[in-house]
Amino acid sequence: MWLFNEISELYTPFDRVENAAMVVDAGRVVWVGPAAELPDAYLDDVTLVSLRNRAVLPGLVDSHTHLVWAGSRVDEYLRRARGETYEAILEAGGGIHNTVHATAAASEGELFAGVLDRARYMLTQGVTTLEIKSGYGLEAEQELKMLHVIRRLASETPQHIEPTLLAHVIPTGWDRREYVEMFCRRLIPEVAREDLATAVDVFCDRGAFTLEETRRLFEAAAEHGLACKVHAEQLTHTGATRLAAEMGALSADHLEQTTPADWQALAASSTVATLLPGATVVLRKHLPDVRGMLDTGVKIAIATDHNPGSSPFYSLLLCLQFGIALGGMSAEEALIAGTVHAADALGLRDHGRLTRGAVADFLVVDSPHALAALYPWGKSVAAEVYVGGERFRISD
Ligand SMILES: [Zn+2]
Repeated sequence: MWLFNEISELYTPFDRVENAAMVVDAGRVVWVGPAAELPDAYLDDVTLVSLRNRAVLPGLVDSHTHLVWAGSRVDEYLRRARGETYEAILEAGGGIHNTVHATAAASEGELFAGVLDRARYMLTQGVTTLEIKSGYGLEAEQELKMLHVIRRLASETPQHIEPTLLAHVIPTGWDRREYVEMFCRRLIPEVAREDLATAVDVFCDRGAFTLEETRRLFEAAAEHGLACKVHAEQLTHTGATRLAAEMGALSADHLEQTTPADWQALAASSTVATLLPGATVVLRKHLPDVRGMLDTGVKIAIATDHNPGSSPFYSLLLCLQFGIALGGMSAEEALIAGTVHAADALGLRDHGRLTRGAVADFLVVDSPHALAALYPWGKSVAAEVYVGGERFRISD
């Protein structure tokens, strides 16, 4: 057992505890609270770790990433900087299709080296749980290749990795009805059987899948015991958010074009609304009315949407800061969006929080004030990162 003490301030993240202590056993939190209230029973047989009057936050949870990819989209980035739109580039056969070609050409070893590098960098920034989607394969064998790379990463990084099968776009040369049937009858069953993903995500938008195709894919996922997620109302309004709420999806993500009626549907459901301000800012778009969503009772998470095209973001903290600056969130709301709500968006009830029984993933902030983590822009203040109660050495 480990007793972490001399914690100036700790966020669970729902509660703020001053002069806190936390007891960890077998990788989980067994007690957390004000040090003065620590039961004597925990003082026997513990290894004491002083955090020297610094603050503690739950490990960050990035609940929406496309972290496995090859190639570069810098040319597209520069074209967009000159005013071309993401949609026009995609419709002309660029965008996602460039990454699909490069990812198909890369070996599993090359893809693994790339994703390991990105995941480790994110760990140094305090991200202890990561969702990673396939979706640059499109063809079944290539989608499976991506999921195998994600599985290997899960066994080689201390982070908890949650793999998702993504139905991204219809590949060129396919009849769309036949592709959806291949996805539903072959790919989803095989992924479920091999335990390669816990959820199916669908990009429901213009240029990708229709609402009816999304429903069909959701039904196939549910039939095989996989959860559902959706890229919803990013470029156009399709009704995907209400479908997600109706079908009990884990999350509906993006939501730039959502309406108050969509927010009401989300608020009445268990579906988490995941905002991706990285993509919003890079594509020069606008976040939805975040305050309006919060006031309607929507549960909001924030993620990086890391991908080589619309969101080359490595910093979840920076995305939380956008939530504050552009979305009108308080620092406390942003912290909750990047920890406990993000874990809920993955169906993980024991991550993203420091409460009894939860996995002891946390970061030590280089300050007596926990929310100082959200103060400097572009600089990580994670002095130490613990995963399952064990310290990850940032300098390694
Ligand atoms: Zn995405």
